[in-house]
Amino acid sequence: MALYRRILIFVSLMCLLRGLDASAGDADPIYKACLEQCEKSGCVGEKCFQHCKFSSDGKQIDGPWYMQEPLYLKWKQWDCRGDCRYYCMLFREEERMKLGGEPVKYHGKWPFQRVHGIQEPVSVAFSALNLAIQFHGWISFFILIYYKLPLMPNKNTYYEYMGLWHIYAILSMNAWFWSAVFHSRDVELTEKLNYSSAVALLGFSLILAILRAFNIRDEAARVMVAVPVLAFVTTHIMYLNFYNLDYGLNMKVCLAMGVAQLLIWAIWAGTSNHPSRRKLWIVVVCGALALLLEIYDFPPFKGFVDAHALCYATTIPLAYLWWGFVRDDAEFRTSSLLKKTK
Ligand SMILES: [Zn+2]
Repeated sequence: MALYRRILIFVSLMCLLRGLDASAGDADPIYKACLEQCEKSGCVGEKCFQHCKFSSDGKQIDGPWYMQEPLYLKWKQWDCRGDCRYYCMLFREEERMKLGGEPVKYHGKWPFQRVHGIQEPVSVAFSALNLAIQFHGWISFFILIYYKLPLMPNKNTYYEYMGLWHIYAILSMNAWFWSAVFHSRDVELTEKLNYSSAVALLGFSLILAILRAFNIRDEAARVMVAVPVLAFVTTHIMYLNFYNLDYGLNMKVCLAMGVAQLLIWAIWAGTSNHPSRRKLWIVVVCGALALLLEIYDFPPFKGFVDAHALCYATTIPLAYLWWGFVRDDAEFRTSSLLKKTK
């Protein structure tokens, strides 16, 4: 455990990216005082929360995991904290608006209006649509590969990247699922699952970009590319989950992996003579615009639509186009391999 901790600390120092854990809003002393008061009394002003009433003796146990309170109590505690954060934020933002202030972020997120207990309904809806599009893309790819394109005599597919695209589809559906859950209810568990699955997807799609763009088909060479990226991604996920959920650092890591794969695809689209490189170009350019939306973050319009939600909206048509490219690629590779064998 000590060695593992030391490695994590070393990695974090190596990165020299000691971002701030706190956003401007939750560093504010009045907000902090409100939160502390709320977690004790279970009330913000007139509003009180059911979840804030803990076990009869009311004390928290700090033992090993098997001595701790059951999960539902933990969930209650998270719910209590969530409600306290939300109502303290509303209270604080109202005061700030009266004094003519601009909205600020709380715990890495903008102040949103809840709808039926859903924290960011627009982001949830777009996440669900993204999930649906990814599923549709995957199914159409599957049908093309197994039912429309010719198979080898041993029933294998000619397309060499098929397994990789299947993993990509599963990781991306997983990421959109947890994104929808996280944006509807932001507690420690959903937050970690959301960030971890997004990092896993980005890491895997970086591997996929390298393997496809450099046409790496040899198993040993594939492993050599995948292992360092997987090691880095695993370390980063463990750092976020067990050491420090650092939004700033995570943003930088995700941006670096996102920009790297966009560059790889862009250079490949520019240099190869792939028949559907135009689709690739559109995805790369619009993907870069979506990344810009994530960076030039702005507060939510009317408390609902922020840059993050708009970014999710742009990825819906992009995902559709992207799977179109994947299907074209499968057809292109299969037909050129068939020509070779004839
Ligand atoms: Zn999100």
